[in-house]
Amino acid sequence: MATFDAVFVGSGINSLVGAALLARSGWSVCVLERNEEPGGCIRTSTDLTLPGFTHEVLASWHPLFTGSAAYAELKDELDQRGVEYVNTDLPSGTFFPDGSTAFFTTSLEENSAELDRHAPGDGAAWERQFNAFMANADLSFGILGTELWSGAGLSLGRKAYRRLGRKGLLEFTGSTLSTCRDWVTGTFASEQARGLLAPWVLHTGLGPDQATSGFMTQVIAAALQLGGMPVPVGGGVRLVAALAGIVTDAGGEVRTGADAERILVANGRAKGVRLGGGEVVAATRAVVVSVTPTQLYGRLLGGSDVPARVSDAARRFRYGRAEMQIHLALDAPPQWRGADADRLARCPVVHVTPGLDGVSRAVNEAERGLLPAEATIVCGQPVALDPSRAPDGKWIVWVQLQELPAGRVKGDAAGEIDTGDGTWTEALREEYADRIVARLGASITNLREATLKRIVLSPADIEALNVNLVGGDIYGGSCALDQNLLWRPLAEAPGHGTAVDCLWHIGASTHPGPGLGAGSGYLVAKELTKPPLPHRLLARLPGRS
Ligand SMILES: Cc1cc2nc3c(=O)[nH]c(=O)nc-3n(C[C@H](O)[C@H](O)[C@H](O)COP(=O)(O)OP(=O)(O)OC[C@H]3O[C@@H](n4cnc5c(N)ncnc54)[C@H](O)[C@@H]3O)c2cc1C
Repeated sequence: MATFDAVFVGSGINSLVGAALLARSGWSVCVLERNEEPGGCIRTSTDLTLPGFTHEVLASWHPLFTGSAAYAELKDELDQRGVEYVNTDLPSGTFFPDGSTAFFTTSLEENSAELDRHAPGDGAAWERQFNAFMANADLSFGILGTELWSGAGLSLGRKAYRRLGRKGLLEFTGSTLSTCRDWVTGTFASEQARGLLAPWVLHTGLGPDQATSGFMTQVIAAALQLGGMPVPVGGGVRLVAALAGIVTDAGGEVRTGADAERILVANGRAKGVRLGGGEVVAATRAVVVSVTPTQLYGRLLGGSDVPARVSDAARRFRYGRAEMQIHLALDAPPQWRGADADRLARCPVVHVTPGLDGVSRAVNEAERGLLPAEATIVCGQPVALDPSRAPDGKWIVWVQLQELPAGRVKGDAAGEIDTGDGTWTEALREEYADRIVARLGASITNLREATLKRIVLSPADIEALNVNLVGGDIYGGSCALDQNLLWRPLAEAPGHGTAVDCLWHIGASTHPGPGLGAGSGYLVAKELTKPPLPHRLLARLPGRS
């Protein structure tokens, strides 16, 4: 029986980072992945469309990773292993149906000027908001980088109290609960400014009318201005290979085709994992699982070893809206309509949307089970950053549609598509993709003739690629407030420890939620490698570093 200090289930970014950090600390580590390739949502493919085109099948953009504590700690080693990031000074733009545009750059001055172009005064409003945000950025980013259900979470609260006072803390907390709609309409006069930032809230798993979406919009806007939109040259596969290399070079294993079917528990303590074929991989110090609560408390623990109220809560865990991906290989760069064509082609992420109300309407339609009439099209252009992704003179379009019903499709808000029994058949998938591509074709004038190949992934296809993406929810569970922050994954089991000793829960379903920031893998690795309490107390004595 193979035995390791730690066994990880799943090989997404959180597991790989956690495993790499433990391996660097001298732990023997095994990562078990049921798919044939490691990486989870990082899935780079050179055979998705045509030879010479390198597609990110799922996750594409790495600002959360390059801005993370994990990257700060691993950067030198990742550099040595050939992980090279390219970035831009023009991370995002929005293309509106009337042909107008709005852009967001990495410069405060340029953003002010751009916002003033649409409504004088909006630039100054953004400067005020950004400066106010930065004055407490350590608290805001701290919420997302701290184990909230712990002493560290309490310390963050105390720090906020000392700095802001009782009323200030109340105000700060209240402001984090506001909606994106309230924040953008209260801050900006122009619809373009609102439509520039509101679509970003979709990338946090929320909609613009949900609690905390105003805070998340500000976090993203600040992160875009500070960090741009980096991607790894050659695709995320390079990062996956480098992190896996850290594990294996330290003597650990990254095993693919290894489906964990049961966590083995004895005397209230996790002892290892049983694989589908019956093989047992033993863990002497930790079992760390990057799965949904549904899988953890259902399949992997079989409803035993934890209090019934936890298993019951896990059964009630909610999944969010579903997603569709459209991948296009183009024969030529895109010709965007209008005067800003060149700038739009330089922008890695362009949102095509009527604006704030357009996003709100599409989210609402999806939440009522309908295909939206006018979805927000996230048009990704990776070649604008990394020319190695396509042959010379050619182009890739990576389309993300984040406003689709969770579960069965009940109908079409536009009244055009027959949604049948509501399951994602090939016909439904392609018909909906036709609507999106036709709309995109009204914005990119050469789209139709330049398209060499198109591949569409429905929510069902996305779930088939990664079991954690239940129903095509790419964020590992609804990010509504009652399932987020302190309450993620479950109010009955907050944080990353579990009721079973030595069993840790990480991944998108846990705090700080989805994205490539690797926050949960990092937090658990730090907790596991924390020096014992007497050492920490000794280290505080005068004269000790
Ligand atoms: C289409 C799409 C686009 C996205 N775009 C971005 C983006 O551009 N930028 C960004 O920051 N975020 C993006 N995200 C979100 C981000 O990619 C995810 O939140 C994040 O990668 C999740 O990482 P994770 O550590 O939770 O594990 P995951 O990436 O979900 O990986 C979990 C792994 O565990 C494996 N597994 C599950 N159960 C078992 C088992 N029993 N035994 C063995 N293996 C198991 C799965 O096969 C999977 O490989 C995107 C997600 C998707 C799906």
